[in-house]
Amino acid sequence: MTPQALSIPVCKDPHFAVTAEVELEAQIVTLRMSGLINESSDLQKVSDYLFKLEPKARVLRFDLAGITDINSSGLRQWVIFIRRVENIGPRQQRDFEIVFSSLGEVFLERANTFLDMLGAKPRVEAIEVPYRCASCQDRSTVTMQVKDLGASASELRLPEPSCGKCGSAMEFDEDLSGYFRFLKRISR
Ligand SMILES: [Zn+2]
Repeated sequence: MTPQALSIPVCKDPHFAVTAEVELEAQIVTLRMSGLINESSDLQKVSDYLFKLEPKARVLRFDLAGITDINSSGLRQWVIFIRRVENIGPRQQRDFEIVFSSLGEVFLERANTFLDMLGAKPRVEAIEVPYRCASCQDRSTVTMQVKDLGASASELRLPEPSCGKCGSAMEFDEDLSGYFRFLKRISR
């Protein structure tokens, strides 16, 4: 029997949208978020939804590749949200696993400054890694599995992609230790 996934729109503000994909058999809920997180992003609606859903969920996966911006009040809201969500499981005396299945560059940059955005002990599966072409300056991101990055920030294994426009070698386009600071926080 194939796992059944229900896709449910949880929240649709003008600048912020959340969809929940629920795999009942596997007890996995994937929350796909896109747009801007600011003071009017209704994260309360999302945590209320999770409270109702909780008996059916064991794993919560966040796909945040579509987050385009987070302002300072959005950041405060997010930290409150992730704490509340983390406590849904223990409150019901269940293990509740938080996984970031995909972190985009915008979210990851903020989370590297405020590690609390990732919660207490998250798993991170994939991140976007930014590159710039040394020759034509074209910039793009490469999606990388965290398990392929290496054991720590000092032993990073990064790919060496070629530029999609001119074929030259591309270089990592951020501060290395800053961009991978989140590795300290995650469980693997
Ligand atoms: Zn190029």
